[in-house]
Amino acid sequence: MTRIAVAKGDGIGPEIMDAVLSVFTAAKVPLEYDFVDMGKWVFDKGYSNGMTPEAQQSIESLGILFKGPMETPKGKGVKSVNVTARKTWNTYANKRTFQTLHGVDTVFSKAGIPIDITIVRENIEDTYGGIEHMLTHDVALSRRFITRPGSLQVIKYAFEMAKKKGARRITCGHKANIMKITDGLFLEVFYEVAKEYPELKADDVIVDDLCMKLVSRPDLFDVVVLTNLQGDIVSDLCAGLVGGLGFAPSANIGDHISIFEAVHGTAPDIAGKNIANPTALLLSGIGMLRHLGLMQTAAMIENALLFTLESGVHTGDFGDKGIPSVNTTEFSQSIINNFGKLPFHNPKPMLADQPVTPTIFKLEKNPMLESLDTATENILGVDVFIESNEQPLVVAEKCLKHTLDLFKLVTISNRGTQVWPKGSSFTNLVNQYGCRFESVGEVALTQVDILELYKRLSADFKICSTELLNAWGDKKAYSLAQGQ
Ligand code: NAD
Repeated sequence: MTRIAVAKGDGIGPEIMDAVLSVFTAAKVPLEYDFVDMGKWVFDKGYSNGMTPEAQQSIESLGILFKGPMETPKGKGVKSVNVTARKTWNTYANKRTFQTLHGVDTVFSKAGIPIDITIVRENIEDTYGGIEHMLTHDVALSRRFITRPGSLQVIKYAFEMAKKKGARRITCGHKANIMKITDGLFLEVFYEVAKEYPELKADDVIVDDLCMKLVSRPDLFDVVVLTNLQGDIVSDLCAGLVGGLGFAPSANIGDHISIFEAVHGTAPDIAGKNIANPTALLLSGIGMLRHLGLMQTAAMIENALLFTLESGVHTGDFGDKGIPSVNTTEFSQSIINNFGKLPFHNPKPMLADQPVTPTIFKLEKNPMLESLDTATENILGVDVFIESNEQPLVVAEKCLKHTLDLFKLVTISNRGTQVWPKGSSFTNLVNQYGCRFESVGEVALTQVDILELYKRLSADFKICSTELLNAWGDKKAYSLAQGQ
């Protein structure tokens, strides 16, 4: 028996979790459950991260959390318990599998176009850090972190998973044509890792083009790996391809703790009515059984689910309207009644169970703290973001008073578009400028030089934020303003 933590969640969570666990119990799945307190109702009791300390301790010692959807309390300053859980336990890869399910009609199933796409979404970084500030009354800034070790972790997972699955193709979705440094880093790491897997066809597609291609030829894709926000959007698009959120499972994979949950939310509009569709949570549970090496039980339950869907049994949110729908409990009972039956389409093979070695331990050190890049670091300048409602020429004149012999003012931008020394009178301005100062003759600067400039500029401006202009060896580690 393996013991796992289970959180039923909010809204429809308890109903669909009970349905799934009834299927597991009938299938004699060798699991024991530690029911833990997590969700909006725990938050309402005064636990600011939405879980009790006992819940956290249980999940950290067991390593597996099977969870129902949880409501994010509304209001500023409150973080989503779902996002907190994924980040706290470093579940860096979010794997979502989307497959044609016979009995769930979509335009593609009707056209006979098969879909079998796995999205691997980076799960911790990107804008999901939620590091946001108002720089002026009118200007908000979100910091988007893409790191080399973080990208490496998720991309390696995606390649390993693709290899195990016998994938034909692995694609990186990105926007590196615009976000050359952040998405550029993710794409660079993708191709570095691809070299270790010559047997896999690795390619990349710009994310907007990817969306268009996914809806026109979804059968051409197999495994797709993306950064966090783009992966979030693209995976919901893929859920739409196979019949909606009711059929979208998800696994949040970390080295030590993994979380299995449906993609959908708490569906407050239908909560408490016993009419929710438990398929997505069941598919997530089946993924969890495979993760735990329980291949045979996973295949048996999945075949019974596929047989049930093929035979036209459905909850109210999908299926043939000519056949009366069943409720959540009846749906799970139908699956149990179909144990041992094989679907006509895509029956799952009965692979041998695999032993899984638990890897739960506390991190003794953080290996990702050590950078492998040994190139010499130099500070070549600084971007100073200032608040001003004056015209660019006036801002430039004030800045130039403070450059001394050490700095030159290179460019002034407004929302990333150059407005000085050249610009266009058609560019609309907001009350915040980015002023780029570089060292004269590209000499290396010290942080004290930067502080001196900061002090001098602060006599004329409110400085909202600064960023160093770093160079690693002869590679400049910053982007140019548009038009520079
Ligand atoms: P939702 O997914 O809960 O609902 C969207 C629509 O899909 C609703 O009409 C709902 O009835 C329907 N639906 C969803 N799951 C269904 C199911 N299993 N069977 C039948 N119909 C289903 O999205 P929402 O309304 O935007 O979010 C509600 C709450 O859920 C919010 O508080 C949100 O923060 C939270 N949420 C949690 C998670 C999670 O726990 N991982 C994910 C998404 C949203």
